[in-house]
Amino acid sequence: MGIERIREEVFCNEVETGLNDAASKLYGKPLGELNDAQVYNCVLQMTKEFTRAAKQIKGDKKVYYISAEFLIGKLLSNNLINLGIYDKVKEVLAKYGKNIADIEEAENEPSLGNGGLGRLAACFLDSIATLGLCGDGIGLNYHFGLFRQVFADRLQTAVPDEWITENSWLHKTDTSFEVRFGDRKVRSQLYDIDVIGYENGVNKLHLFDIDTVDESIIKKGISFDKEDIEKNLTLFLYPDDSDEAGNLLRIYQQYFMVSNGAQLILKELHDQQIDLHEMYKHAVIQINDTHPTMVIPELIRILTEDKAMSMDEAIDVVSKTCAYTNHTILAEALEKWPLEYLEKVVPQLVPIIKELDKRVRAKYKDKKVQIIDKDKRVHMAHIDIHYGFSVNGVAALHTEILKETELNHFYKIYPEKFNNKTNGITFRRWLMSCDPELASVITDTIGDSWKKDASKLTQLMDHIDDSDTVEKIMEVKKTKKDQLAAYIKAREGVELDPDSIFDIQIKRMHEYKRQQMNALYIIHKYLEIKAGKKPARPMTFIFGAKAAPAYVIAQDVIHLLLCLMEIVNNDPDVSKYMKVIMVENYNVTYAEKLIPACDISEQISLASKEASGTGNMKFMLNGAVTLGTMDGANVEICDLVGKDNIYVFGKDSDTVIDLYAKSAYVSKDYYKKSKVIKEAVDFITDKKVLAVGHKENLERLQKELLNKDWFMTLLDLEEYIAVKDKAFADYEARGAWGRKMLTNIAQAGFFSSDRTIAEYNRDIWKL
Ligand SMILES: *Cc1c(COP(=O)(O)O)cnc(C)c1O
Repeated sequence: MGIERIREEVFCNEVETGLNDAASKLYGKPLGELNDAQVYNCVLQMTKEFTRAAKQIKGDKKVYYISAEFLIGKLLSNNLINLGIYDKVKEVLAKYGKNIADIEEAENEPSLGNGGLGRLAACFLDSIATLGLCGDGIGLNYHFGLFRQVFADRLQTAVPDEWITENSWLHKTDTSFEVRFGDRKVRSQLYDIDVIGYENGVNKLHLFDIDTVDESIIKKGISFDKEDIEKNLTLFLYPDDSDEAGNLLRIYQQYFMVSNGAQLILKELHDQQIDLHEMYKHAVIQINDTHPTMVIPELIRILTEDKAMSMDEAIDVVSKTCAYTNHTILAEALEKWPLEYLEKVVPQLVPIIKELDKRVRAKYKDKKVQIIDKDKRVHMAHIDIHYGFSVNGVAALHTEILKETELNHFYKIYPEKFNNKTNGITFRRWLMSCDPELASVITDTIGDSWKKDASKLTQLMDHIDDSDTVEKIMEVKKTKKDQLAAYIKAREGVELDPDSIFDIQIKRMHEYKRQQMNALYIIHKYLEIKAGKKPARPMTFIFGAKAAPAYVIAQDVIHLLLCLMEIVNNDPDVSKYMKVIMVENYNVTYAEKLIPACDISEQISLASKEASGTGNMKFMLNGAVTLGTMDGANVEICDLVGKDNIYVFGKDSDTVIDLYAKSAYVSKDYYKKSKVIKEAVDFITDKKVLAVGHKENLERLQKELLNKDWFMTLLDLEEYIAVKDKAFADYEARGAWGRKMLTNIAQAGFFSSDRTIAEYNRDIWKL
């Protein structure tokens, strides 16, 4: 027997023994007599044991990735893959009559994030550990996360997402800190989740919480007393901030996160007897968007008040330790807290923030770079840029826009701080775990070195003219479409035709992402079919999206989509040719089912508005062809695959930025000029739609499109229709389409988060 084979045997025995031990310890029964949820708990238990035995990653310097969100998704299959025991566990479970997929279903998805930014943080933790770098995440343990989306009466309603169960990946630690606010002090409790690298060591995700949280204060939906801080502090991610109490609660949360983070970091440095004047040689703090910005004044406060450092020294050392990632240029997303709010919640930080602002004013005359503006609002990003050593954007175009427009005033002062780190995704989750069928075709074709070095995927290009390989990839796509159709049938009760084209748009609901433009396309097709123009092949339009509860127009777009779903799917003239489905409660688990089954990936944001996107990368990796604007990382996708393997449309970012600068976009002009646009927009309040929907929502949405349309839906609609029709027509040339799929997979290697993290380390962290 070869050494590998012996290792395998040992593993298999260890897995079986581990599972049986867990079964008798947890339930006093043999594994074969347990239900799926119980077996899940046994696998969880055993995986934790295996993880305990794996090596903790150590290093002389450590990165702390601090983020309000970590959208980690279910962890079981990923952890098993990364530990190298997935196949063993599958085998052993099968021996006891259990299907691993059913066991995975029993896990709740941790609801610790909102969208791309949180998912990025999760992919980064995976890659940091996979590359063997010493780095932990720091965040909060929200009991009910964002919210769970439930459709009722064709509207989104929000209910608490109960994800924490008695047995989970959370480890209660004995770490606890005191956190002082202006009007109270609380004690924190740290929970850890192990982050297991792919065939490498283990780092930690540190999630802070407080023991006094009281879930019973939740009233209707997700509403609760926003002023009862001890009871509500870690109930929800992004609690409603439409009033002052909501704003204050967000500041309480942010400070709770960063104060705990700062204390944890200083404690770890203290334990290693590091002179804090040299902390930047041993620690680097990556600030993910502006939510954790207060870590900068908080560290300065602790160093000056408790560690006897001078203000000059503290500012210097903290500035050399902190680095900032910008995720958006949407003005409303760049946080600006009224000074008055900070005085209420964190009065101890206010003198520090004023001192930081004073120093900026003494050096720079330009009002645009001040921290505290004339309305006494604190620009959080400005703190990060002045008092951090690195500012990075998340895709090439985004970083250019930051340098040339949005943050140009800062770029002129600090050109050396600005750098680009194009986002990435972990291929363990977004290929190996969600599409093992495709992973195995790839491995059969080029070997498995791509699993450790994603750039090796380009070797697939050697097989572009090999019809067998192309055929196999298309067969996998069909398999994944069959699987998705079965899943959607079971969950949503809607029957999909796996031979139709699956056109998918899944992402947070936002006007800049332009789901409403896709809706107008659907209306246009509906009207064409009604008028007798039949498509060559049936089409299936799939959506998934949560909308922020206070974002009215986003709710209206969801309503329109749910109305269209009702009308289209129940119209016998039309439903043979097209179907519309909006899945409920889109999350990571759903993404893992939808993405491998996609033919056409909708990435149609208004150019300049989507900083990067990462959904676009997941789709490409799984052999979908992108239909998109020249925005975010779509630009880099286009460069990699070439114009023949992507469908591009719409005005470019320069044009759009210019239209904003001159206030030159008038949506009504587009409506008046084009019959197609007029018909589609008019249909929103057609009697067919009003018969199934709410007049108020539909009229409000239509008015918005006609009178404001801030994200310029109508600007690109005609070209969108033309290019999308072309993509659908091209789909019929099956061999050529298969080559497009293969090219997309082959060129996706650049978007591995392993590459992104290697760049962060090379240019920023220097671990
Ligand atoms: C990847 C991902 C996102 C980000 O999608 P974009 O299309 O880049 O906005 C959002 N939500 C979930 C669940 C994801 O997995």
